[in-house]
Amino acid sequence: DTSTDGVLTADTHLVQSFADLDLLKQDGARTVIVGAEGAYVTDSEGNKLIDGIGGLWCVNAGHRRREIIDAITEQLETLDFYSTFYNFTHPAAAALATKLAELAPGPLNKVHFANSGSVANDSAIRILHHYYNRLGQPKKKQILSRHGAYHGSTHLAIAMTTSAYSEGWDKVQGLVHHLRCPHHWREGGEMTEAEFLVALLEDARARIEEVGAENIACFIAEPIMGAGGIVMPPAGYHAAMGAICGDYEIKYISDEVVTAFGRLGHFFASKDVFDVQPDIITTAKGLTSGYQPLPATILSDEIHEVISDRGGVFLHGMTYSGHPAAAAAGLANIALMERDRIPQNVRTTGKRFEGNLRALADMEMVGEVRGSHFMMGIEFVRDKADKTPFAPEDMIGLKVARAAQKRGLIARPLGNILILSPTLVMDGAMIDRTAAILRESIAEVHAAL
Ligand code: PLP
Repeated sequence: DTSTDGVLTADTHLVQSFADLDLLKQDGARTVIVGAEGAYVTDSEGNKLIDGIGGLWCVNAGHRRREIIDAITEQLETLDFYSTFYNFTHPAAAALATKLAELAPGPLNKVHFANSGSVANDSAIRILHHYYNRLGQPKKKQILSRHGAYHGSTHLAIAMTTSAYSEGWDKVQGLVHHLRCPHHWREGGEMTEAEFLVALLEDARARIEEVGAENIACFIAEPIMGAGGIVMPPAGYHAAMGAICGDYEIKYISDEVVTAFGRLGHFFASKDVFDVQPDIITTAKGLTSGYQPLPATILSDEIHEVISDRGGVFLHGMTYSGHPAAAAAGLANIALMERDRIPQNVRTTGKRFEGNLRALADMEMVGEVRGSHFMMGIEFVRDKADKTPFAPEDMIGLKVARAAQKRGLIARPLGNILILSPTLVMDGAMIDRTAAILRESIAEVHAAL
């Protein structure tokens, strides 16, 4: 049924997430997606669009993959639902946890499932708080995050997120300390990238000394910041932050909600791309390619030993933690990725995508093209020489996104930035077409300034 009755009007009963409410009232502001196939989606007007945001950075294996759909259906026909609470378990959740332990780096061998990426991050924090209680260090509860970070939308995750996402909302107070955003182009001033790295590490050490390592449970970081605007840190940053965390006995949480499952050419990026061994990895999105909601909090053996093997009750979990249909989707998705060598292929196709987008940096309105493989951002500037940003009311990202959609490409505007995080199954022609559409769209918007 592709009926759009009621969904396009301003008085629809659906509350849109992260929506500009004034914009939504305009005619044509909503796009109704009614179908999908591979790297494309179809809207209610019959337009076939390249899904340049992979659903929401998640449909990594592509849309409507038969293997994943069949696995979900078969699972529901065998066991529709059982929880992983108390002493209950089921084969799909157990098998997926085993598979994730195999794929996750080093001693990350224990998996707790939740129901959204935000909650996977909340879980990581709650688990660490429990861990330090058990170790007799109940004061070690504070969290180091970064300006520019996005860790989710629950009450705790939004407190770890950059303040841009919580203006006017109350937040958990006194628990989170934001370190400098590691964005050299915007934050580095006259420093070289290497000098900027030194400054970032000095900032981190100074903040740790100020708060006191005995009060700090963890540092949480996305390998590449996503919803904060695609920020790739200076080379060596994560490895150095990992070493600092080690020195101060602070746990390192890598938020791989976006960067895992092939997006950067590997199942997980922390160790393979950024050379850091986290104590906890949180992930979601690409784990099922978005076919079912399923995040995971992957713990080191050492953390797990403290929180569970010494007895007592582990008072944490959600009804749908490890839902059978979601776990079946995850298993089928990973099997498909392994069979089709999706992460390995991304090392070629993703590099082509990145290269094509980087070539847009020759355009006058393009200040910086950044990111890696299939996780890219383009920042537009009013003046390229001094990086003067456009004003928010210029809605420049939105204008380029609309121009692109008119030409058959969905991209995500974020203020002056345009984000591309497509499916990982685009062929060379689609990749080239995406870059061509972006060039035409940027030129159109620039000409109309
Ligand atoms: N962490 C990162 C890095 C994310 O990008 C997101 C969502 O975009 C989240 C956490 C939150 O995940 P969810 O929206 O599934 O709660």
